[in-house]
Amino acid sequence: MCPKCRGYLGVDNKVIFCIKTKGWEGGLLMLTPELGDYTSLHHPSFSFKENDDFDFYCPICGYDLSVDGEKRLAKVILKEDNDKEYYVIFSKIKGEQCTYKVANQKVEGKFGKDADKHINVLNLSAFK
Ligand SMILES: [Zn+2]
Repeated sequence: MCPKCRGYLGVDNKVIFCIKTKGWEGGLLMLTPELGDYTSLHHPSFSFKENDDFDFYCPICGYDLSVDGEKRLAKVILKEDNDKEYYVIFSKIKGEQCTYKVANQKVEGKFGKDADKHINVLNLSAFK
């Protein structure tokens, strides 16, 4: 879910984002909700290069999903079947595999080959 409007970003077991980067007007990107799975789907006309840095926006309300003070990371809310909510924090850089599952200011899980990269700069006090 979007942390701002709490709209559901998931459709048919994919999560949909609006993304933009410098020199490109933007488009829609679909990611897998499975943490640690970095499969993505997008229009075939998009060509991304490794290390391209994207902004992620909520496709419903347009909210910038950037983590405050850490522009290389984005955040969404994951609501599990038992209604427990977590923040899922992930890298906005193409090719960087780094995802954190955070609740009550604690990292409850980290995923991806680059998971240790941002762990020390993540300000957990923002994720209650
Ligand atoms: Zn929203």
